[in-house]
Amino acid sequence: MPFRASRLAQGLPLLVIDIMIKDIQTKATPQVAATESLLRRQAAGEAGVALERVTSLRVLRRSIDARQRQVWVNLQLRLYIDEQACDDEYEPVVYGDVSQASQVVVVGAGPGGLFAALRLIELGLRPVVVERGKDVHRRKQDLAAISRTQQVDGESNYCFGEGGAGAYSDGKLFTRSKKRGSTDKVLRVLCQHGASTRILADAHPHIGTDRLPQVIEAMRNTILRSGGEVHFQTRMTRLLVERTSPAGDAVVGVVAVTATDGQSATAGAERTFLGPVILATGHSARDVYRYLHRSGVEMEPKGIAVGVRLEHPAELIDRLQYHSRDGRGRWLPAAEYSLVTQVEGRGVYSFCMCPGGFVIPSATGPEQVVVNGMSPASRGTQWSNSGMVVELRPDDLAGDGFAGVETGADEQERVLLFQEHLERLCWQQGGRSQTAPAQRMADFVNGRLSSDLPRSSYAPGIVASPLHFWMPRPVASRLQEAFRFFGRHNHGFLTNEAVVIGVETRTSSPLRILRHADTLQHVRLGGLFPCGEGAGYAGGIVSAAIDGERCAEQVKAMMG
Ligand SMILES: Cc1cc2nc3c(=O)[nH]c(=O)nc-3n(C[C@H](O)[C@H](O)[C@H](O)COP(=O)(O)OP(=O)(O)OC[C@H]3O[C@@H](n4cnc5c(N)ncnc54)[C@H](O)[C@@H]3O)c2cc1C
Repeated sequence: MPFRASRLAQGLPLLVIDIMIKDIQTKATPQVAATESLLRRQAAGEAGVALERVTSLRVLRRSIDARQRQVWVNLQLRLYIDEQACDDEYEPVVYGDVSQASQVVVVGAGPGGLFAALRLIELGLRPVVVERGKDVHRRKQDLAAISRTQQVDGESNYCFGEGGAGAYSDGKLFTRSKKRGSTDKVLRVLCQHGASTRILADAHPHIGTDRLPQVIEAMRNTILRSGGEVHFQTRMTRLLVERTSPAGDAVVGVVAVTATDGQSATAGAERTFLGPVILATGHSARDVYRYLHRSGVEMEPKGIAVGVRLEHPAELIDRLQYHSRDGRGRWLPAAEYSLVTQVEGRGVYSFCMCPGGFVIPSATGPEQVVVNGMSPASRGTQWSNSGMVVELRPDDLAGDGFAGVETGADEQERVLLFQEHLERLCWQQGGRSQTAPAQRMADFVNGRLSSDLPRSSYAPGIVASPLHFWMPRPVASRLQEAFRFFGRHNHGFLTNEAVVIGVETRTSSPLRILRHADTLQHVRLGGLFPCGEGAGYAGGIVSAAIDGERCAEQVKAMMG
């Protein structure tokens, strides 16, 4: 029960409570901010209250200000004076029994699909989740096998499987979404399923790849306990469409293939799942895009961004960002950065920065090398990496410098072909395995092959390769120019201690599945709710989750 409500229930006057709780805004050194006893002393002093009267302290907001030599932690604090803090930091969502309720099919168990399923339960509907990959724990074995065998399982990898592309990631939870209420709700649901309540306070919250699987498993258990269903190794192969009126068709379910023991979901028994469909299949399900395209489902190409992963020693980034030879010291977290510039009319920017993390192989099929990043909760590895990508518009792919993209292909197909072409090229340059081609950063900028490479976190291994030469010219030359610019403004950033690793191609969805802005149903197919990142309406864990919740709400509105 919220604090005020609980006081009221006990018959205690609110006037008393108001002098028992005091919120203050302050800034503290990193050591004070990280040490409860010191912070309590500082807060009591600033609030003008005797230290022994402060019985409890809660951090409501925390952000790091590293613009000056002295780094400060900005804090919004709640002091409980002569009063114990209530235990509840948030109001948990109640998930009732929906086992007898109308059924809704959710395709994909990424953040979009999982949050859609949970919201459906809140709204009294029964989710049936269909996921091509394995559960989050069995999936981990397939991820480990990538480095060992250099092979990628096309149905269970860093993008496919329970938790989606967000499961083995940094678990960064900030979003550009202006919908504060929706963002807070997503964070609260994650806490309810086991995430640390620190994420409610941090300006740049993250969970960490070592903690996310338990949170995802707990979400699945909520779905099952409430009477929903979750089917792993079950790949949707087509939509079930019915003619409802001369004017329109409606999606009434999906057909899926379920793997029988030992097989992947490429083969197996066909099954039908009936109900309106929330389609949340992510940005890497090219088979889904091609099926939709062949079936005449209206989509349009989106701009994409491609480039490389850039990996520095973490302590170098710490020194630069915290303006100190000692780096982050004992009290600060691994430093983040966010860089952006324009080169020849296109944005070049850092993407999905993973301080103290790893570069990982995130291909989804054979003959591809694709890299991305993740970090553990501690962000404690010796490396910090980020995607460094160049914005490309659909028209760019028809221009010079994009050999390998079939000129005859229509623009939907062209963007998929371009990604595939670049990923295959990278696989060839890396030695036809998951070993990734790489080049020292300054060598890349100066157009020189690296004679050796620094140690890297990328487990399958890196091999020296002239990325400046074989990457599409409009991408490589813009990256070179942007790196020069970033180096001029952050002395020490452009260095041969850093390494660029190819290629980063899956930064966002290449296509948008067209839907009505109000009902969120597909523009022609009623009962189909394109959802999340793969549909082109989200970019990141939180925005995909918010879109999942919105789709669930619109399904409810449709069903009445
Ligand atoms: C390595 C990595 C690190 C990332 N780090 C972060 C981060 O720190 N913070 C952040 O905000 N974002 C991060 N992202 C991006 C984020 O993960 C995505 O934006 C988010 O997961 C999108 O959610 P989604 O539910 O729309 O799609 P996805 O998460 O892609 O989920 C789609 C699901 O659909 C399933 N599927 C696909 N086709 C079918 C089919 N035919 N039948 C059944 N199931 C199917 C897939 O297996 C998958 O599980 C990262 C991505 C990657 C790859």
